[in-house]
Amino acid sequence: MIFDAHCHINDSPESVNIDAIIQAAIKAGLRGAMIGGVEPAEWQRQKHLQQSYPNFIFCNFGIHPWTVAKNDDDTLSDMFSKLKLDLSKVAALGECGLDFYEKGQSIEDETKQIKWLTLQMQLAMSSKKPIVLHKVKAHSQMIKALEPYNALRGIVHGWTGPEDHTQDYQKKGLLFGIGPRYLKCKAARSDKPKFSLSEFCIESDGPFKKHEIPDGQTWVDDLNRTAQFLADQFQVSRSQIWSQNAENLRKAGFDFLV
Ligand SMILES: [Zn+2]
Repeated sequence: MIFDAHCHINDSPESVNIDAIIQAAIKAGLRGAMIGGVEPAEWQRQKHLQQSYPNFIFCNFGIHPWTVAKNDDDTLSDMFSKLKLDLSKVAALGECGLDFYEKGQSIEDETKQIKWLTLQMQLAMSSKKPIVLHKVKAHSQMIKALEPYNALRGIVHGWTGPEDHTQDYQKKGLLFGIGPRYLKCKAARSDKPKFSLSEFCIESDGPFKKHEIPDGQTWVDDLNRTAQFLADQFQVSRSQIWSQNAENLRKAGFDFLV
């Protein structure tokens, strides 16, 4: 079962015919896709798409660290209230997390991101929803923030390694979101992944950011490219990778994947 654990199909340029792309992907065997949400305006667009494709599009709503960085605490509080109201409509909370890529971030900026991530983790725990974490240049802060939430399930999205970090998230029982970014990174160059067959899920994180899909390839081609890469590394068939993907997601709390 080909399933995309994380994409942003709603976030395409207006010139892109989303319906045509979804129809083509369904024809090519895609069974469904989860969309990561970053702020309320985007949640609205996701909801509309989900209404058109109720058993195909599954929503994640979250307050992304970039959204946190751009807004003051009052605005973020409003967003958080909306998130609570919309919880019943989502498969998971996310994307949320920590992003310290920008140089010159102050301690206050970091503290603010950690605060809003923590609130979303608490909400995931109390609502028993999985979480989708975005993490860039924030490993130690993320591990520290996760510390009190051992029962939290979900995905560390956009995984790129490295090895020592892998172990930290393995201990937490979170899935590694494997996609085009992983294929390009150093960690992927070793013979065998540092994670096991029960610890990953496959994501396109696209499909319409052009740099992430080689020319002439489709959404499903892109997902299959990642699945084939893992199949070769684990020395199993591509269809085994896809069934493992669904099983891993189910275990991580995405129980709509029957
Ligand atoms: Zn994303």
